[in-house]
Amino acid sequence: MINMTQELFEDLISKRRYLHENPELAFEERNTTKHIKEWLKHHDIRILPFDLETGVIAVIKGDHDGPTIALRADIDALPIKEETVVPFKSKHDGIMHACGHDFHTVSILGAAMLLNEQKDKLKGTVRVIFQPAEEIAQGAKKLVEKGALEDVTSIFGMHNKPDLPVGTIGVKSEGLMASVDKFEIKFKGIGGHAGIPHNAIDPIVIASQYVTAVQTIISRRMDLFDNAVVSITSIHGGNTWNVIPDTVTLEGTVRTFQPKARQAIPGLMEKLAASIAEGNEGSVEFIWDEYLPVVNNDSKYENIIRSTINEIGYQPIDAEPSSAGEDFAYYQNYIPGFFVWMGVDGPREWHHPQFDLSEDAIKVASEFFSNLAVNVLNNG
Ligand SMILES: [Zn+2]
Ligand SMILES: [Zn+2]
Repeated sequence: MINMTQELFEDLISKRRYLHENPELAFEERNTTKHIKEWLKHHDIRILPFDLETGVIAVIKGDHDGPTIALRADIDALPIKEETVVPFKSKHDGIMHACGHDFHTVSILGAAMLLNEQKDKLKGTVRVIFQPAEEIAQGAKKLVEKGALEDVTSIFGMHNKPDLPVGTIGVKSEGLMASVDKFEIKFKGIGGHAGIPHNAIDPIVIASQYVTAVQTIISRRMDLFDNAVVSITSIHGGNTWNVIPDTVTLEGTVRTFQPKARQAIPGLMEKLAASIAEGNEGSVEFIWDEYLPVVNNDSKYENIIRSTINEIGYQPIDAEPSSAGEDFAYYQNYIPGFFVWMGVDGPREWHHPQFDLSEDAIKVASEFFSNLAVNVLNNG
């Protein structure tokens, strides 16, 4: 069993505070990348020569032969103005580690450091992935294109969970986080005088009908067991009070856990948009952007994850799924993987300007991932 020393724990806390004070947005994590590399080098952990502007991939090769597995952390921050009172508050105005990726980074770094001292226990290789740009759902995709998963047989990761106490780890096979897709719908009419609407085709009226009608796709067209959400999150059209505009643009997102629902919804939405537009003699342009699949945990790892948590003296609990998305799902498109919730006992939810977490969870997370890597490799 691998345990963290107090010295390493305190070192990781100070590294986390440094990252928290110096957050960087997606694909701009240059200083973060530079520091991760320095920290790895300082501990003689080999950095793999991937051609990345931001993000780092390192490797720990065990003394015994075996497969390669990966541990993944995300490293980016958000465009949020921090409102906490911590002494290591963000120095970058309007940018904040409000999703706790600073915690993920140092926890996986800690796991790498622990594993690097236990190479004699490792029957295989651990690739450690510090991924950029999770918040815009682009980082995992980019790393996969660069070959980050080549030779990797399975991948493990986590998200902090503020509503769970430190020392608990949420575990659930199959769907843990929802799929994320984005849409843009442009209703086109004919602009005109607000006092003479019969000579115009009013796209505001068309869009309004659609905003309410689209919810019937969830309430009337989906199986009760196919949980899904459609949210329209922006409406833009018109710029003054006495002119009917010619276009209204809607944007929003669809979340679901079932591939069947994910496949059906865009077609139903487009058809409804076209028919409402046509019924009003307008037209529509429907743009669907596939973002992320479901975070789909491979059940074959559930037992080893639960037993590892017990073995190191922490508490496995049944994870509640979240309808937020995670680009960890993208790796699971290619190889089996498992994503867990790490209890951090925080006062606020993700992306809140007062988001914070208990740093005690760093020790839990580093010990969990280092021990899990050893156990997974030992079990072939
Ligand atoms: Zn986030
Ligand atoms: Zn996050």
